[in-house]
Amino acid sequence: SEIALEELPGVGPATAEKLKEAGFNTIEAVAVASPSELATTAEIGESTAAKIINAARQAADIGGFETGDIVLERRKMVGKLTTGCTEFDEMMGGGIETQAITELYGEFGSGKTQLAHQLAINVQMDREHGGLNGSVIIIDTENTFRPERIAQMVKGLSEKHGMELDPEEFLQNIHVARAYNSNHQILLVDSATDLANELRDMGKPVRLLIVDSLMAHFRAEYVGRGTLADRQQKLNKHMHGLLRFGDLFNASVVVTNQVMAKPDAFFGDPTRPVGGHIVGHTATFRLYLRKSKGDKRIIRLVDSPNLPEGEAVIAVTTAGLTD
Ligand code: ADP
Ligand code: MG
Repeated sequence: SEIALEELPGVGPATAEKLKEAGFNTIEAVAVASPSELATTAEIGESTAAKIINAARQAADIGGFETGDIVLERRKMVGKLTTGCTEFDEMMGGGIETQAITELYGEFGSGKTQLAHQLAINVQMDREHGGLNGSVIIIDTENTFRPERIAQMVKGLSEKHGMELDPEEFLQNIHVARAYNSNHQILLVDSATDLANELRDMGKPVRLLIVDSLMAHFRAEYVGRGTLADRQQKLNKHMHGLLRFGDLFNASVVVTNQVMAKPDAFFGDPTRPVGGHIVGHTATFRLYLRKSKGDKRIIRLVDSPNLPEGEAVIAVTTAGLTD
């Protein structure tokens, strides 16, 4: 953020120092803290903490109104990133859109991480091959990023297109950070913004931001009913940070999500994505991945602002994702 902590009402130099020592280095970090958390770590009263947090939220929200023609100009820039699978691309109206969050949800082993790896490769290709000539940032919360798998998939893509693609070059354009907890995960979006600015200046614009998995830390840390409001507030902040990143850099934002059993389901599929209405409403496209026979996976487009619901079948193979 451009604004210094000291500029917030109620924050003197001493409080700013305490906040920074406690890891609240930016306005954004303060904005997503809970009053009790801030009060304890910065040794201030809880009502003071609440006031500081409110001020930080106002300062952090840089939004505003813009006219429709400006929105249209930005929409014209929307890119479509190929999944490498014909049916899947068609269902998505050409591919995974930039300036949007696409959520992949499904059970363990349904192929969310595999798809994320494939997209991290495809986005680097030129437009003729369905890519966006872009680099990639991955926020890895479950330690499931595998460079070896990237190399394997690049080899597969080389064969598919009859080109000599160098796995090393692809790996050099994938920037991975491990997120150790939910606060860290949120802060990594700020770091991703800094990095994306640098990469843009270097002529290697980031066209894909992956969060794999979105909810794992939030679910592990916020257990019990009393913590839900707090969790949703932070999650909301995180989702909007991701949306902003997508708009700012004309990038696709892809997040993976887990499912949980729906105890009240009498009909249909007894699972649903976690994260509640915050994730549901902020994700632009929601895709439900399901295991099928052998290496087949069924992908269902559950929610989209401008496309009909539909299903596509793909295969997860050693060479990568195919029809
Ligand atoms: P999740 O939805 O939990 O992220 P993954 O994307 O990790 O699931 O999918 C794991 C599955 O992907 C494995 O069960 C396997 O079927 C397939 N898979 C992983 N690596 C390979 C590979 N090298 N070759 C072929 N299939 C693979
Ligand atoms: Mg995974």
